[in-house]
Amino acid sequence: MTRRLSRDEAAQALGELRGETDRCRECPLGERATQSVCGEGAVHAKIMVVGEQPGDREDLQGRPFVGPAGGLLDRGLAELGWSREALYVTNAVKHFKYELRGKRRMHKTPAQREIEACHHWLEREIAIVRPAAFIALGATAARALLGRRVAVLSERGRWHEDAAGRPVLVTLHPSALLRGDPQQRDAAWAAWLADLRIALPPR
Ligand code: SF4
Repeated sequence: MTRRLSRDEAAQALGELRGETDRCRECPLGERATQSVCGEGAVHAKIMVVGEQPGDREDLQGRPFVGPAGGLLDRGLAELGWSREALYVTNAVKHFKYELRGKRRMHKTPAQREIEACHHWLEREIAIVRPAAFIALGATAARALLGRRVAVLSERGRWHEDAAGRPVLVTLHPSALLRGDPQQRDAAWAAWLADLRIALPPR
């Protein structure tokens, strides 16, 4: 894609992308999920936020970050003076990977081959939205964007460059904050906001 699409063209291209990922069976995840979940937000956003994959609620609703982790993302953005509508929020993998425990569908981390299989869909989204920078939430997103294994805890809170020279800020996925030590939650929250603030200064 050589020229920047107009807003209408970009919205249409993203709609078509959603249809194509819905039909995609390039890895086994497409068969078991309810539907694909592509990104949403400003079609010409300056910042693209990339997570790992849709969760149970996202899979059912067909929208990214609408579960508990999405609630934390919204809260963090609000504290920084941002709304999600100003950004484009998506995932590295477009179908929900899970294992059944009884009737519950428990999140399962996507395998590297699944992240790789899905990568061209993420690149399509990037080519349509053309953000100036990325926020990678967690190791899967960081690896998908930077093309290498990323040690999130030691590489968080600073800019990295992807193969195309695009800036990528690495930080934790908000679900890690939900799982963390309750005694450390306030400090973990403050550290996460400090990371995000590098890409999203208060406004
Ligand atoms: S997860 Fe990605 S590559 Fe796998 S089937 Fe879904 S859209 Fe296709």
